[in-house]
Amino acid sequence: MHLDRYRASGAELIMGQARFTAPRTVEVELADGGIRRIRGDRVFLNLGTHATVPDLPGLAAARPMTHVELLDLDRLPGHLIVVGGGYVGLELAQAMRRFGARLTVIEQGPQLAGGEDADVAAAVLDLFRDEGIDVLLRTRLVGAEGTSGQEVRALTDGPGDAGVVTGTDLFVAVGRTPNTEGIGLELAGIELTGSGYVKVDEHLATTAERVWAMGECAGSPQFTHVAFDDFRVEASRRGIGYRLLTLPMAAVLRTRTLSEPRGFLKMLVAADSDQILGFTAFGAEASELMAAVQVAMMAGLPYTALRAGIFTHPTAAEGLTFLLSGTPTTAQ
Ligand SMILES: Cc1cc2nc3c(=O)[nH]c(=O)nc-3n(C[C@H](O)[C@H](O)[C@H](O)COP(=O)(O)OP(=O)(O)OC[C@H]3O[C@@H](n4cnc5c(N)ncnc54)[C@H](O)[C@@H]3O)c2cc1C
Repeated sequence: MHLDRYRASGAELIMGQARFTAPRTVEVELADGGIRRIRGDRVFLNLGTHATVPDLPGLAAARPMTHVELLDLDRLPGHLIVVGGGYVGLELAQAMRRFGARLTVIEQGPQLAGGEDADVAAAVLDLFRDEGIDVLLRTRLVGAEGTSGQEVRALTDGPGDAGVVTGTDLFVAVGRTPNTEGIGLELAGIELTGSGYVKVDEHLATTAERVWAMGECAGSPQFTHVAFDDFRVEASRRGIGYRLLTLPMAAVLRTRTLSEPRGFLKMLVAADSDQILGFTAFGAEASELMAAVQVAMMAGLPYTALRAGIFTHPTAAEGLTFLLSGTPTTAQ
């Protein structure tokens, strides 16, 4: 699909590994052999990131999986140890659990999904434990023994843990490293930040003339969607008053038809107007609800307009009527 789009756009796509040799000049090791040298009038870097495997005793020798190998597995792990309770670790842990593997998640922070609000993280933790996933919080991986795919031991440091978790497979999902090393950026005058991302200004211009960087390598958020709940963080940071509406998913009739009533909805509304500031949906068909509220926010609709909507029964959107008809609590 993407290749077809390239062809239709008229852009030339060269498959290969590029490396800078001079300002705005790259040498490409072509995937099907040979070298090609290209000089551009303007250059845009879109290098991305790769999974970080921390330098811990025995870890590399234990041959842990990243998401790349995990997504290629053609067998079910007996007991999968997941290091990292961010979204990549969580979504693949849950998938593997639902396929039938035993699961242990090790997270060094005080909650799963560290960037989320505490109530959202607590709900994810409840759901994970409910599904039979062991979760160790405030627990750091300090090393590994054995071999992933056979028998592997994750050596841990945390409150009340035994110092070791033994499983069959180890999956590391502890963050991303920018693909900026070893490709000659210094020969092109392109500087990096202290954490290895391409240094850019507010226009995404790099330190080199007529060179820009975008996407993850420029340190942009590692999602393509908008995190609605950031509005709440912003609201409290900026001292903006807001009203809070919450509803358990079980009260959304659609979830009864799906036999999946877990989760909740919450919306933040400005204290002094009916403007929607943020929205969180945690539960079945949450993605559909998010899009509906996003459209309302884009159009600047007050929450009362959504509340007045007559949404088809039994859809997830119908839950908005119940959520917004509740009594808001005031905060800040
Ligand atoms: C398991 C997983 C699940 C995810 N799920 C979601 C999700 O549900 N929703 C969401 O919004 N985001 C998700 N993401 C994040 C999303 O994939 C990234 O935010 C997005 O791909 C970043 O885009 P990018 O263009 O910056 O980099 P990439 O998509 O990484 O593209 C960079 C490309 O540049 C190539 N490249 C790098 N260096 C060179 C070089 N020297 N020469 C030639 N080519 C080079 C790389 O091979 C790569 O193809 C997920 C990520 C992971 C790992």
